[in-house]
Amino acid sequence: MAKCSLCGRPAIYISRISGVALCEKHFLEYFDRKVRRTIRKYKLFKPKDHIAVAVSGGKDSLSLLHYLHKLSRRVPGWKITALLVDEGIRGYREYTVKRLEKVASELGVDYVVVRFKDELGFTLDKIVKIALERGLPYKPCTFCGVFRRYLLNKKAREIGAAVIATGHNLDDIIQTYMMNIIDNDWTKIARLGPVSGPAHHPRFVRKVKPFYEVLEKETTIYAILNGFYEGFEECPYARFGVRWTVRKMLNQLEEQYPGVKYSILQSLLTAIDMLNKLGIGEGEVETCAICGEPSAHPVCRACMLKIELGILELSPEKLAQLPPSARKMIESSLKLYERRNAQNKQTNKTSRGVDEAASF
Ligand SMILES: [Zn+2]
Ligand SMILES: [Zn+2]
Repeated sequence: MAKCSLCGRPAIYISRISGVALCEKHFLEYFDRKVRRTIRKYKLFKPKDHIAVAVSGGKDSLSLLHYLHKLSRRVPGWKITALLVDEGIRGYREYTVKRLEKVASELGVDYVVVRFKDELGFTLDKIVKIALERGLPYKPCTFCGVFRRYLLNKKAREIGAAVIATGHNLDDIIQTYMMNIIDNDWTKIARLGPVSGPAHHPRFVRKVKPFYEVLEKETTIYAILNGFYEGFEECPYARFGVRWTVRKMLNQLEEQYPGVKYSILQSLLTAIDMLNKLGIGEGEVETCAICGEPSAHPVCRACMLKIELGILELSPEKLAQLPPSARKMIESSLKLYERRNAQNKQTNKTSRGVDEAASF
């Protein structure tokens, strides 16, 4: 068995890049140093922040909650609140809500659960069903991502939090980077820094990623050592995503060429720097004409999705009151929907026709 390079006790972690082996005690010290360096380098927090920790119930966000709670003992001005969005995914979310309740009460941390069902009127499962029925071209992760971000920001502001901390680790970030390269979406890449959001908007809550420079392997070990790791825990909708493939590819690369993940992170930071110099990603933040939340467009994505799902209906009078740019967005999206619907009906008719013909 490998021995700790610092003290000779049994090692629980070996860095494939430097070859350094660490025991439990020295791993935790290394982890703490690394995260504190990120916090300092990117000025993630202020001495008197109310920090909302976005908790998904998974190992990374629970580790972040645990870590920041521990660190907060040394920063008396901090207040920590755990914020969990319950999308309503059967067989997955019920369990993670219980898990947060358990961890939060053990740590003595306040927590708030925000439910899709209460805020939007429907669970994610139901939304996915409606989208299928209406033939909307979005994957479950689109609804989940848009509504989660929307509700996190809204709720964090309502509880008076100055900043939202998320448990994204280095692996998550470079996966998103790769996915945005595939999509050729440089605006999104420009927003992948450790502090996100261009937003100078009174309703926007700053978002930070303290595990930005920590490998997923390391957050996993931290979770195991603190009792948050309970094996494989993937959202049941994950297999619909490209992320799955990108993640596998990056792990294979790292296996063959240790250090690749850090190089990709460096590449991302350089890209963000160049994009910022070009003014990309710093677009004007508007205010959604319908709900008043910060938005990149005249109507925010959450409201647009609600309209397309038919769970937000605007009366002709209300529509007439909206600014022209917002009205145009809604009208063109509804037209697109009608056109798509007509096409779908046509396709169904044709395929039935073929079936009938085949049965003769
Ligand atoms: Zn040691
Ligand atoms: Zn809106």
